[in-house]
Amino acid sequence: KRKRGEDTLSSLVQRVEDLDLKASVKAFSDLPLSEPTAKGLAASHFKTLTDIQQRAIVHSLKGRDILGAAKTGSGKTLAFIIPVLENLYRRQWTELDGLGALILSPTRELAIQIFEVLRKVGRYHAFSAGLVIGGKSLREEQDRLGRMNILVCTPGRMLQHLDQTAMFETHNMQMLVFDEADRILDMGFQKTVDAIVDHLPKERQTMLFSATQTKKVSDLARLSLKDPEYVAVHEAA
Ligand code: ADP
Ligand code: MG
Repeated sequence: KRKRGEDTLSSLVQRVEDLDLKASVKAFSDLPLSEPTAKGLAASHFKTLTDIQQRAIVHSLKGRDILGAAKTGSGKTLAFIIPVLENLYRRQWTELDGLGALILSPTRELAIQIFEVLRKVGRYHAFSAGLVIGGKSLREEQDRLGRMNILVCTPGRMLQHLDQTAMFETHNMQMLVFDEADRILDMGFQKTVDAIVDHLPKERQTMLFSATQTKKVSDLARLSLKDPEYVAVHEAA
């Protein structure tokens, strides 16, 4: 006999499968989301989706790669945090599964902001999440890294761990996010990012968000995304 939780999970999986990509989704309550995410959004007073969220989330919930362009303030953070939480939840990700999602941010300040949104909206989930932005000793970070399901990090520090932290396993990782990819590349992290991607499984979902579409961004997109859904929002959010 199946438990009630399994029924709920399989019905959620089915609702994501049935999700109509052309239907217009106005409210978060219209999306097939897990109870912990729905509760986290409600508790954070998020009700309706911004344009970029409307365009991107239906595709990313179904596992598609995303190439997203939208100016600052348009709500890109939730556009990747919601699918990260949901896609790991539907896979019943636990601490034992290790790293499930890696979110790359150009600066420590932005990484901290993303982490705060993740903590707020993800508060009813059981995932472990960590910030990897330097500032502490490598050793101190190393001890915690192996237990994390979701990491928000800056490129330099991440690569340092991938090269030096023996216990750090990435073979299970499902999702990779580049936030502010244009800034990551403008800051000279191109080689670092290439080296990070080299360490990660080829089978994964990748979401790349950027305020501007530069040549460097499209080069990175070509190398790191597979048949991405291109979502660009230019009007004010
Ligand atoms: P971006 O990364 O595109 O610059 P953010 O994700 O930082 O944008 O969001 C900008 C602001 O909009 C934040 O204050 C955030 O809390 C708010 N915001 C994001 N999504 C929503 C939403 N669906 N409803 C209301 N406010 C939102
Ligand atoms: Mg942002």
